Amino acid sequence: MNQSRVTRRNFLRWSQSALGLLGVLPAIGIETAAATVPSIAAGDDYYAKLGVEKIINAAGTYTYLTAALMPPQVQRAVAQAALHPVRLKDLQRASGEYIAKKLRCEGAVVTSGASAALTLATAACIQAANGLEPNQIPEDVAGLKHEVIVQKAHRYEYDHAMLICGVRIVEVVTLEDYKRAFGPKTVMTNFFNSAEGGEIDRQTWLDIAHQHGVPCHIDAAADMPPIENLWKYTGMGYDLVCFSGGKGIRGPQNAGLLLGKKQLTDLAVANNNPNSDAVGRGMKVAKEQIVGMVAAIDWLLEQSDEANEAEYMRRVDIIKAQVKDVPTMKATVHVPEIANRVPHLMLTYDPVVVGVSPKQVMERLKQQRPSIELNPATGTSGRFGSLSTENTIVIGTWMLQPGEAEIVARQVRAALLHPKL
Ligand SMILES: *Cc1c(COP(=O)(O)O)cnc(C)c1O
Repeated sequence: MNQSRVTRRNFLRWSQSALGLLGVLPAIGIETAAATVPSIAAGDDYYAKLGVEKIINAAGTYTYLTAALMPPQVQRAVAQAALHPVRLKDLQRASGEYIAKKLRCEGAVVTSGASAALTLATAACIQAANGLEPNQIPEDVAGLKHEVIVQKAHRYEYDHAMLICGVRIVEVVTLEDYKRAFGPKTVMTNFFNSAEGGEIDRQTWLDIAHQHGVPCHIDAAADMPPIENLWKYTGMGYDLVCFSGGKGIRGPQNAGLLLGKKQLTDLAVANNNPNSDAVGRGMKVAKEQIVGMVAAIDWLLEQSDEANEAEYMRRVDIIKAQVKDVPTMKATVHVPEIANRVPHLMLTYDPVVVGVSPKQVMERLKQQRPSIELNPATGTSGRFGSLSTENTIVIGTWMLQPGEAEIVARQVRAALLHPKL
């Protein structure tokens, strides 16, 4: 209609994305009928109100740093979903069907994260093996089929997500161990996709389980990009696959995906909220986040891995250029093989010559305003294989916002060249 209204709407849209606002925004200024897209005004800055510091994320999609920001079109979908109640089960079913189709699998469930997806996967496999009701998990499970087979090298901090269903984990090392481990109590196997080590590869793991008629779950939580991984593992025949929604996929942080065989994802739904007396009752995903997860998949499928990687490399180069004259500096780029498969800048130097250690640089950048978080592998050896040592600063550039690579470059340079200031 008139020019000023369009301008205002564009401005609001711009300010929303420029501020990178998260979550549900109050809908102010709905000018016409509910059928039109309402304009969304920036509300109070609750981070400021609460005195919670905003950070520059030069680390990556780490949960303790609130992982990723949602792209503007996902933020808008979240805000739009907040405007109307719906029937939760309708939304769960429709979102699952939509995502399954887009990601080329039989069944999909929007969960409250990859960890919740693993819990629901375990519950589904217990139910499939024993034919029991959701309310019998975990109490009755110990007396029934309740064993999950896992490689010793794949034991991890998310084992807890399975254990809360009452299962027992059976550890194996060799292929012979694995074959012998299947028995009348086996309900599932779990493969930790980005585990370093483990004698049994992904394909063999799957084949042996299927020879025994046992379903396989694979934890691929942080294993996107590449985008095609979203259908690669279900395509291989994995019965269940989990992804974190709030990491590389850039949906809401408290969302995730369980993908796989329809018979099993249907059982996962039976164990999920809003059903009470079920292991998933506390793993609720609100309508805003379910819609946000769907919008994130739509957004992601329009992306290109190559274009994104080129942008992350452009940021790497901005930072690299600022430290090239630091004595003893050796700058390299490392792309991890599976999880977080994006370029990381590795700055290795001699702290004795430069006068400051990577850990001290990390602390100094944290204390500055704006506060910068470097990758937690900084100043530690063993993470990122042999490439990072106690003499290495590690910078993940993929979560940087426009203009932030320049700030990080300046501050890293200052910390290295003027360590005493
Ligand atoms: C992050 C992560 C999870 C948990 O993901 P959430 O979405 O935060 O629940 C599980 N497994 C692995 C390997 C992860 O990296």
